[in-house]
Amino acid sequence: MPGFSLYSNELSIEKKIALAEYLWKKYGKDLAADSEIDRLLGFYRKEILRSYELMEKFGVVTECAMCATEVPGGGCCGAGIEDWYDEFVLLLNLLLERKIPTKRLKKKDCLFLGTTGCRLFARHHFCINYLCSRITDLLSPAELTALRAQSGKEIFLCWQLERILRTRVNNSTYR
Ligand code: SF4
Ligand code: SF4
Repeated sequence: MPGFSLYSNELSIEKKIALAEYLWKKYGKDLAADSEIDRLLGFYRKEILRSYELMEKFGVVTECAMCATEVPGGGCCGAGIEDWYDEFVLLLNLLLERKIPTKRLKKKDCLFLGTTGCRLFARHHFCINYLCSRITDLLSPAELTALRAQSGKEIFLCWQLERILRTRVNNSTYR
């Protein structure tokens, strides 16, 4: 184990990324071969893609991409939000074969913000759930309900996976 501990909010995002990569290298194969994790990862991937599809269909992707890349500080994607992430949500990205961005593009923006919006696949519940008035004004009540329901499914699977990953790693089942 490198010189840092699990679940510490005091770690810098760079250390949390390094910890996620360490866990992935050490346990990634075993975690991916675990039938329960594999089953949940399959559902989770589908729900993330469904969320993106819905956001695209309702115009949220375009609206947020414009706001996040044009407003200084990235709308709700400002510098510092990356610190809310822990190593397990980051590890989920690696288990889903997605890269974790490590280069901040603009000083006032979240580390994970890209030129066309968020570059992370598996995200923190705030990033999935938060909709400002620009978005709530844009959507009809039915669209808003559908999007909220979809976000709930994604967040629930993320929570289930985080829980099981913590248990597996904590119990060092694979050592
Ligand atoms: S939710 Fe609102 S503040 Fe956040 S990026 Fe989208 S439009 Fe901007
Ligand atoms: S992780 Fe993505 S959605 Fe969340 S604040 Fe950063 S850029 Fe925005």
